[in-house]
Amino acid sequence: MAAEWLKRFAETVEKNKEELTKLDQAVGDGDHGINMNRGLQEVLRKMEEVPADSPGGVVKAAAMICISKVGGASGPLYGSALMKIASALGDEEDVEGKQLTKALRDGVDAIKKRGRAEEGEKTMVDVWEPAVQALEQGSSWQELTEIVKKARDNTIDMKATKGRAAYLGDRSIGHLDPGAVSSSYFFLELACVME
Ligand code: ADP
Ligand code: MG
Ligand code: MG
Repeated sequence: MAAEWLKRFAETVEKNKEELTKLDQAVGDGDHGINMNRGLQEVLRKMEEVPADSPGGVVKAAAMICISKVGGASGPLYGSALMKIASALGDEEDVEGKQLTKALRDGVDAIKKRGRAEEGEKTMVDVWEPAVQALEQGSSWQELTEIVKKARDNTIDMKATKGRAAYLGDRSIGHLDPGAVSSSYFFLELACVME
């Protein structure tokens, strides 16, 4: 499950790396697609080299690569989220929904703590938090996809107060947040795998 999820996430980021870069050119330094793709391609290579063991093991390997290879603000944020998710999944073979939701809660809390960000600051938190809350409230995977897309689009009207985009102040309004978009891929691919 985790290997399939991360593989699909990596493939979607690869397919959309120019799009992510374009979004980051508008509000940041134009490297989000490059950063994410560099790390996730390494995750794919690693998964081919070392066959998947437990979901937790797969996610932990990805976390370490995010921390060492993605760089920027997003690398350590995704890395710390994945590290927490990996510990919550543990080394069991099968992951059930509740355990996954709890793991994702730990993940978003790690991002908020590390980034000192809350909802409404035009960051990846604006996708992660509503997505995890929806799962906590028992949303189906189908419902999650709609919630995630809406949450991603809601970042357009937000003013950035964290990350590079915050330097733009009001000029950050009117653009999607690149990290919210890559995070939408993360949850949309999860929903695809779990459905
Ligand atoms: P950098 O800004 O260092 O070039 P990236 O371009 O890879 O890093 O990632 C930018 C994304 O990281 C933003 O779009 C935003 O979603 C996320 N981000 C930046 N700072 C924070 C923060 N403090 N908390 C949460 N997310 C953040
Ligand atoms: Mg950037
Ligand atoms: Mg950068």
